[in-house]
Amino acid sequence: MTPVSHPGPVPGSTVPRTRRPRYRPDGGPRHRAGVTVVAALALSGCVVAVGNDAPARVVTAPATVDGVPAGMQYLYGSGEAAAGSQQVWRGLVAYVSQALRARSRDGVVLAEGATLAATRFEPCGGKPAAVVFDVDETVALNLGFERDAAGGRAYEAARWRAYEITGGTTARAVPGAVEAMRQLRAMGVTVVFNSNRSAANAPATVAMLDRLELGPARVGETLYLSDAATGSAKDPRRAAIAARYCVVAMGGDQLGDFSDLFNAGQTPAERRAQAQAPGIARLWGAGWFVLPNPVYGTALKGRLDEVFPADSAWAPEP
Ligand SMILES: [Mg+2]
Repeated sequence: MTPVSHPGPVPGSTVPRTRRPRYRPDGGPRHRAGVTVVAALALSGCVVAVGNDAPARVVTAPATVDGVPAGMQYLYGSGEAAAGSQQVWRGLVAYVSQALRARSRDGVVLAEGATLAATRFEPCGGKPAAVVFDVDETVALNLGFERDAAGGRAYEAARWRAYEITGGTTARAVPGAVEAMRQLRAMGVTVVFNSNRSAANAPATVAMLDRLELGPARVGETLYLSDAATGSAKDPRRAAIAARYCVVAMGGDQLGDFSDLFNAGQTPAERRAQAQAPGIARLWGAGWFVLPNPVYGTALKGRLDEVFPADSAWAPEP
């Protein structure tokens, strides 16, 4: 299958096969180069082999059903995503419980001057323990916004900002998140949100978090949002949080939810290498926790030869 390099309708569907990149404000920087092929849509027409331990059959993954891309089917509709999310939250709570007992000297926020190859972390000192989470597609699923986009609408910043104000009642908590917040707070850990939602819309975001039983969140104390000073950079806000707290764990659905240093990675190969650098790899599931997001963001990029190395080519014998 060859990725489509320009938008165009899928036969029999009104949904474009590709879209412009849909970078949410919390999804890292906007990338100017390249066309993002939404992973779900990239499955269009592919025949997906089921693993060796599964029944001997193949499954054709459709691009969309009723205009719903496979990524949305997975994240917002599937039991598998619900299970995976709960798995992440349960692992995070268990890790934090163990970290509190271990009384680590360092937190998990990279210190100023650190690199992905040479990691150093903000020290804990005598600071109280906290956890830092992204909001969108980390603790909250934006069903209203994505349902409206399901027909193939490209991301528009103005539409997202409008959703921040009026769409909160359509959001749902990520499976496992409410229980995790309750357990973390019961351990005496402060829950802090670091989101690129707009500071101008803070009351609506606070209300959304409260309605989903994910709060409380107080602006400037336990809720850090995008403003004129920080824009979409999360590192300055992480530094401000780490100055007040010993951050024992972080959670997010984009690599930028852990460090802005990841945003230097452009190609899939660069980003895979960043995530697997020795000092970084040891953090996954042990301080840094990633929630699934196959719907939008910095993960969804790559031509065929960028996703599949040349030596992975295979075809059945004629
Ligand atoms: Mg997010």
